Amino acid sequence: MKDALYPLAFDTSPLTRGAQEYLRNENIRLVVDYFQSKGIKSLKRQDREELWYADWIDYQSAHRLYATLLTPKKYSRFCGQFSLVNLTRFLEAFAYFSPAHAYSLHTTFLGLFPILMSSNEKLKKEAIARLEDGALFAFGVSEQAHGSDLFANEFAVRKTPDGWTADGAKFYIGNANAAFIISILAKKVEAASAGNPAKRAPFVLFALRPRESSAFQNVQKIRTLGIRSAFVGGFEVRDHKFSDADVISTGRDAWDAVLGTVNLGKYFLGFGATGICAHALTEAVDHLQKRILYGKSVVEMTHIRTAIAVAFARLCAMKFFAFRALDYLQVSCDDDRRYLLFNAVQKAKVSTEGVKVMGLLSECIGAKGFETDTYFESAIRDSLLIPSLEGSTHINYGLIAQFMENYFSGAGHDLRAPDSLVMQDDDPGEHPYWFEARDRNAKTVSFGDCLQAYEPLRELANVKLFIAQVEGFREFAVAGTSMLNPTSDIGLAIAIGKCFAIVAYGQLVAENCRIANIPLPTVSLIFHGLVEDMSAESLRLSAMFPSDGAQQTQLRNVVQVPRTSASDMAAVSDFLMARYAK
Ligand SMILES: Cc1cc2nc3c(=O)[nH]c(=O)nc-3n(C[C@H](O)[C@H](O)[C@H](O)COP(=O)(O)OP(=O)(O)OC[C@H]3O[C@@H](n4cnc5c(N)ncnc54)[C@H](O)[C@@H]3O)c2cc1C
Repeated sequence: MKDALYPLAFDTSPLTRGAQEYLRNENIRLVVDYFQSKGIKSLKRQDREELWYADWIDYQSAHRLYATLLTPKKYSRFCGQFSLVNLTRFLEAFAYFSPAHAYSLHTTFLGLFPILMSSNEKLKKEAIARLEDGALFAFGVSEQAHGSDLFANEFAVRKTPDGWTADGAKFYIGNANAAFIISILAKKVEAASAGNPAKRAPFVLFALRPRESSAFQNVQKIRTLGIRSAFVGGFEVRDHKFSDADVISTGRDAWDAVLGTVNLGKYFLGFGATGICAHALTEAVDHLQKRILYGKSVVEMTHIRTAIAVAFARLCAMKFFAFRALDYLQVSCDDDRRYLLFNAVQKAKVSTEGVKVMGLLSECIGAKGFETDTYFESAIRDSLLIPSLEGSTHINYGLIAQFMENYFSGAGHDLRAPDSLVMQDDDPGEHPYWFEARDRNAKTVSFGDCLQAYEPLRELANVKLFIAQVEGFREFAVAGTSMLNPTSDIGLAIAIGKCFAIVAYGQLVAENCRIANIPLPTVSLIFHGLVEDMSAESLRLSAMFPSDGAQQTQLRNVVQVPRTSASDMAAVSDFLMARYAK
């Protein structure tokens, strides 16, 4: 099996084969060197005092880390290329040490990508040259009063005889203190108009260089529960003059660039969630192995062993899903847009699974996990923040529900399952489609037979139960939802989306279990969690229908009780205790 698919661990001795594979990448080695020499004490002080990490920014700049990861080959002066597997492994390892530091890279991606998606070649070249000099970028979309409702945004630009002027304020903007360029979403209002822009005024995305504009004012840090040493801030722009050369895109192109950027950028956050949980797991196991109560190690208590094994299995599933979704993204093209569903599932589910993993580990680790000099303590806070950073999980569940009809129809039977990026030695490199993708229509995406993924695993009791749940839910979906028109009841669409997200999640997890030949006890425990989740969510969904209605009867078949043998549980537990030995 491929060890690199398991949760990362940089603290075991000897290092796992997976960690060794990550360390073969020069950029990851540089990250590990930086954080290991900095030390947890210094990191936690920076976190407590909410100190900006200027030393890290200098370090990444000196080694051109962000530039190597984010520059498309065509524009790179230094052999950079936009490789999905390099970027996502880097983000995972980065969050393993500090999600707060990693946030500056996430936001740099968000600020840069709309420029790369545009046709403004001069701006692209300038942006890449600056990135290669070590500059950071920012993505200025959110406004304090409007959250997810981007059509209500008030930041306005006006066309003038000499160019444009911009006025407005943004809130919750990462890197607002240090970005060389902020890509700002504004609305175009008529020159004479004095009031707020109309709800449907056309969008304009433009590049603002804070250091070169006195109109950029009142930058304030927003103090957040997690990622405290990062800078998330608000700012105002008053009468900023700019020319057409700074326009990134307008109208439909601007909207597509924002959605395309968020679709990829927020999907990448899931890799951070796996890194955070992986580090918390290593700390928890280390503490519990050393903690002696009643004359023996705490990990010998059955319920603690079980809870840690369950957390490990959930974390494996997060990583198996995330890296399989990457394979679909790698092969995406006009005729194969399955990645749209899997990206949305990742945004809604992987980081919320991370919150569950942290909950399970917190139950076991006890007081130690709340001591502020541990990684664990900030992992509790940072893992909670990621689902919010991703925007609204609710919106993602609503979106996921829109793919359901096509997913179950299986009309795309000639679509091939993509090769695994993690299993191959050669990186296929970047794909122009990622910079051009515009079509996000869920109703025109095709999928193959959704049950095929389970074929080689179906003898396992928990997989068999999960297949029965998928079949039961498919019956409900086919018979019940067309007449429901989910968009008319947002709560119902979200509840359906939550069930369906587990189905899509299970498919990709199963695919990676098979591809990487994961030992069967681990597969069984992973599917134990999926059966549990599917039962819980379908019960919640059932309660939204009348007790004598057909839907409750259909959904009754979806509720199942997982069955994991004591020997499977012990096998997973023994495997992970041996793996995390120091
Ligand atoms: C630490 C941090 C960093 C961030 N960094 C950036 C950044 O760099 N750039 C940037 O532009 N933004 C950034 N954001 C903003 C982030 O994208 C917002 O959280 C997002 O815009 C949603 O706004 P909100 O959280 O205020 O929720 P709101 O939009 O106020 O939503 C409130 C509730 O309504 C629900 N809801 C809203 N709309 C819908 C819908 N259509 N369907 C179903 N449910 C819905 C939500 O799920 C939520 O429960 C950041 C946020 C945080 C916390």
